[in-house]
Amino acid sequence: MKNINKIKLKQKKSLSANDYFDGIKKGNRAILSKAITLTESSNLKHQKIAEELIELCLPYSGNSVRIGVTGVPGVGKSTFIEALGSYLIDQKSKKVAVLAIDPSSKKNQGSILGDKTRMNKLSVNENAFIRPSPSSGTLGGVAKATRETTVLCEAAGYDTILIETVGVGQSEIEVKSMVDFFLLLMLAGAGDELQGIKRGIMEIADAVIINKADHDNINNAKMAVREYKNALHLFPANSNEWIPKVELCSAIEDKNIDNVWAIVESFINQTKLNNSFIENRKGQAKFWLEHTINSSLMNQFYNDDKVKELLIKLEANVSEGKISPFKAAKELLSTFKS
Ligand code: GDP
Repeated sequence: MKNINKIKLKQKKSLSANDYFDGIKKGNRAILSKAITLTESSNLKHQKIAEELIELCLPYSGNSVRIGVTGVPGVGKSTFIEALGSYLIDQKSKKVAVLAIDPSSKKNQGSILGDKTRMNKLSVNENAFIRPSPSSGTLGGVAKATRETTVLCEAAGYDTILIETVGVGQSEIEVKSMVDFFLLLMLAGAGDELQGIKRGIMEIADAVIINKADHDNINNAKMAVREYKNALHLFPANSNEWIPKVELCSAIEDKNIDNVWAIVESFINQTKLNNSFIENRKGQAKFWLEHTINSSLMNQFYNDDKVKELLIKLEANVSEGKISPFKAAKELLSTFKS
């Protein structure tokens, strides 16, 4: 009897792609959460349902503004997202999803957004959906999951997607390839080196926002705004004709958040008018197609038993100079194809 109940429970629990889709379309957040977990799963059965679900959701996605938020730990990202998210929900009637990319995060290690004490206000708002970074795998895997999560959130009716990233490395480039607008949070009075921000990240920012412009830090913040404006002038013009903006705010005091949002709105208006908004999204879709093919081919190649065996042999031969790396690669590839 007990066993029968167990089976029934299990059957009840495993939803089909259509069940998930219905729940998502109805804005059921528990189902949305479960669906996201499915996209992050390495279980092949889960992956299959997730793939089917993404296809179902795709026609209902895309109608959002996707914004990347980056900056070193401590700059105020979660405080800023809480302030901006609340402003958008209260003043602009938006529905906000907050996602995170942190490839270094591990379960139970206080990853970004993993800490329950962060974003207290937003996390209980019924028009907000907050999802911590997937805790497993490589940056590529985490980024893929985040992109799929974006599709699911959009199908669930979230019209503003905020993607938070740690701001110290490669993850910005991945985030840039999945957002419309890229926002860099900085502090006044700390050199770029000190803030761990690489020049390359400044170059891809659509806006640099100097946070913590409050108390006795206001003058420093104003000075930093002038400095960053000068610095950004030196970068080559963007192909979308957008000139990156610099602004200050105090996330903790909710100050100037409206002006930060005005920058995003003006970017969206301008890039939609000159078509670069849609061109950027098309380019991103192409990038992800290539990216997915490349990583899936690599996976298949390195997991092929014949390749694995031959690779060990050829690696040794290459390092001893018995065979050139080019010839070895050719042999491995033809083994893979045979
Ligand atoms: P994150 O690591 O980038 O997400 O930064 P947090 O949002 O956790 O903020 C780090 C610290 O800076 C916290 O103690 C915040 O209270 C504080 N903080 C964040 N924004 C502001 C701000 O606008 N002004 C001031 N004075 N402190 C802030």
